[in-house]
Amino acid sequence: MKIVIVGAGAMGGLFAARLGAAGETVSVVDIWQEHIDAINTQGLSLEAENETIVAHPVAVTRIEDLPSADLVIIFVKSSMTEAAAQSALRIMGPTARVLTLQNGLGNAEIIAGVVGPERVLAGTTAQGATLLGPGRIRHGGKGDTHIGRLSGAADEFCCEVAQIFSRAGIPTLADDEVQSLIWGKLVINVGINALTALLKFRNGQLADFAETKELVKMAVEEAVQVAAAAGIALPYEDAVNKVLAVAEATRENISSMLQDIRNHRMTEIDAINGALVREGERLGVSTTVNRTLTLLIRTLEKNAGGSM
Ligand code: NAD
Repeated sequence: MKIVIVGAGAMGGLFAARLGAAGETVSVVDIWQEHIDAINTQGLSLEAENETIVAHPVAVTRIEDLPSADLVIIFVKSSMTEAAAQSALRIMGPTARVLTLQNGLGNAEIIAGVVGPERVLAGTTAQGATLLGPGRIRHGGKGDTHIGRLSGAADEFCCEVAQIFSRAGIPTLADDEVQSLIWGKLVINVGINALTALLKFRNGQLADFAETKELVKMAVEEAVQVAAAAGIALPYEDAVNKVLAVAEATRENISSMLQDIRNHRMTEIDAINGALVREGERLGVSTTVNRTLTLLIRTLEKNAGGSM
């Protein structure tokens, strides 16, 4: 299977390195010239706990320079999803599919609007990675990846992709209920990301104070109500406890939203708490807490570096 990854940052780099090292035909596209040059001259280096893997995927800045693909994986941040989907379309053969494992709500639907819903695979991954610099990625957390079709039950193509990923050291399951998994991860991100970014907390600190536990509860309970109104069955029973357990389990992590705020980059707030607010408006569910969190993060994005 010819695989092209659009967005070769932390996660795209992780998947490209693992798939490339396992002998799969993988190419990467990224708009960051220095990173692409480093991959072409020194290879793509993935620093994991006990090993460093160096893979040599074909790396380009212009997708037109690649031959057609069977599978395109989109790993850009959510604000760039539409642009990435437009590029994916240019190299998709007639039976090719696009996979998104991005965080947040709406990425799969944006891609479906460009390539058609029947060609979209979506899911979640518990893998984690950090970009260390041009051509260098650190493998962080490990865990299962779930993939399925946006419309309909998992088919042979999904199972084949799951096998390819699993053989490459990314344990993956083909699933029939991806919306439940996507919402399950969304609710966790709703409870952790904005609050850690606003408070400048590591994840675990949210579980250390009665006040932050209450804030997590308020944001998460709204998310649970929106999910219920949308007809989504979450993959766990007690969402507030689940979010606090994840915060504990990832105690030392610096959330991606806090990293983005620190680095004066746009966050994924509009695909996380902001998406929940939009869904709440559509379904008539009040989301005052998440609206407040969204406005606070947007203010931080606009006021980057401008505090007293
Ligand atoms: P990242 O910022 O490290 O990488 C994104 C890359 O996309 C960058 O290298 C950027 O140059 C590139 N890019 C931007 N626009 C592009 C375009 N139009 N065409 C091609 N490349 C483009 O981000 P990341 O941490 O890898 O996250 C990607 C997605 O995966 C996000 O939705 C994130 O929430 C999700 N995710 C991240 C992790 C993690 O541990 N980092 C874990 C699970 C899910």
